[in-house]
Amino acid sequence: MTEIKPYWKNYIDGAWVDGGAGRIDVINPGTGEKLAEHALADAADVDRAVMAARRVHLSGALSDLRPVERGRMVQAMGRYLLDRIDEIAPVLTLEQGKPLWEAKIEIKGAARYFEYYGNQAETVEGRSIPLGKGYFDFTTYEPFGVSAQIIPWNYPVEMTARSLSAGLATGNACVIKTPEMTPLTNAWFAHAAEAVGLPAGAVNIMCGFGHEAGAALSAHPYVNQVVFTGSVPTGIAIATAAAQNVVPCVLELGGKSAAIVHDDADLAAFETDVRRGIYFNAGQVCSAMSRVLVHDSIHDALVERMVGVARSLTVKPGIEQPEFGPTMGAMVSERQRDRAFGMIGDAVAAGATIAAGGRKPNIPGAFLEPTVLTDVTPDMTIANEEVFGPVVSVMKFSTDAEAIKIANGTPYGLVGGVFTRDLDRATHAARHIRAGQVFVNEWFAGGVETPFGGYGKSGYGREKGREALWNYVQTKNVAIKLKG
Ligand code: ADP
Repeated sequence: MTEIKPYWKNYIDGAWVDGGAGRIDVINPGTGEKLAEHALADAADVDRAVMAARRVHLSGALSDLRPVERGRMVQAMGRYLLDRIDEIAPVLTLEQGKPLWEAKIEIKGAARYFEYYGNQAETVEGRSIPLGKGYFDFTTYEPFGVSAQIIPWNYPVEMTARSLSAGLATGNACVIKTPEMTPLTNAWFAHAAEAVGLPAGAVNIMCGFGHEAGAALSAHPYVNQVVFTGSVPTGIAIATAAAQNVVPCVLELGGKSAAIVHDDADLAAFETDVRRGIYFNAGQVCSAMSRVLVHDSIHDALVERMVGVARSLTVKPGIEQPEFGPTMGAMVSERQRDRAFGMIGDAVAAGATIAAGGRKPNIPGAFLEPTVLTDVTPDMTIANEEVFGPVVSVMKFSTDAEAIKIANGTPYGLVGGVFTRDLDRATHAARHIRAGQVFVNEWFAGGVETPFGGYGKSGYGREKGREALWNYVQTKNVAIKLKG
């Protein structure tokens, strides 16, 4: 059994501190039992962290460095995490619920962000713009200054890594508000920042309530840029607070992403996409494959395969799942599980059929069976609202146009997918699906290198890829009048 420290502190201006708002219990969703306590920041803690970050920014300790030097420190943070993967992964599993093997994948993914953005640090170059005789003009990109990053509970390590690595690589000092339910593993980012020699105040990490510390951070007048991943209502609150200070936001919000499966698709291969698309992290993924739109001629054959995938997965505490395999862990909390379970009940009352799963297993903890719902129609709530759990809704279509219409029929637009051997069909769908990323014949194809973000209510701004870097810098043009 992994030994967990009973009390974890916040990290502000290079020191480990208690929280002005007291402590919060961190629960192990795999058992329902208390795991540890974490310090809770209040508005005064947030203010200290922001002012420390501002001091670092104004000092030039990050922004004046030659980018390659910042890049090396960012890369070293990733290696620090990888070197401690066996220490971090069990804590992530115990606080979040995911299988231990998935926790390791998450930490490797986090390290990859530091590698990628560390590499990118010295690629943020401006242009020289010709203005005719007598002028010399060039463009530079400068860090905003203080980057505030509000982190969700589904991938606490990877989501912090995503924004922190890009923020530091471009020379910003960062203040991170970790999620209330899964704050523990973020401590390793503070240790990493110290280990690689970042100055005190360059990275501040604190847990606090969203309505208290989160709200104070997003509204702080010395925050220069806000990055948020989470729900639509919280995204709106944060963007509204940022707008009062006229600072930009990156919002990565929810999704109700659809896979369109045509009659010429490789159905055997699609089983892997279902496995990954909706049952990784117990479906608590913003880009989850939460809708499958299937051509009516292959509906029954595909459902049979999807039911086979759902039933093949054993559901048990993540800590008992060290090796990759047909297993799924707990959801993050009983509240989230009950919400998803309630949505299944409402869907059945509205006419959907449970083809697989749909029950709470009779064990302690926040478990829900991998679920497949059929007889779903586009007007149902289950077809439009995010479940954020291991629940996939299957709908039928008969023409390509109908499939695209259903895919585009929600207010979201994070990702989408099309499964076909026909290139024309695939490219037509890729063009017409309204989403920031379209997968053809493999759900989650792409990686850290590929830009990711939403259309519509799924948010704005892009994470990942080179595109993300432009969220962390502001453009300055220098126009010089030459003599003679
Ligand atoms: P969920 O409801 O699934 O927990 P949220 O979008 O509310 O998702 O939470 C994501 C992150 O946003 C968490 O770190 C949470 O503390 C934070 N948060 C919640 N409410 C606010 C708010 N009003 N202002 C700033 N941050 C918030």
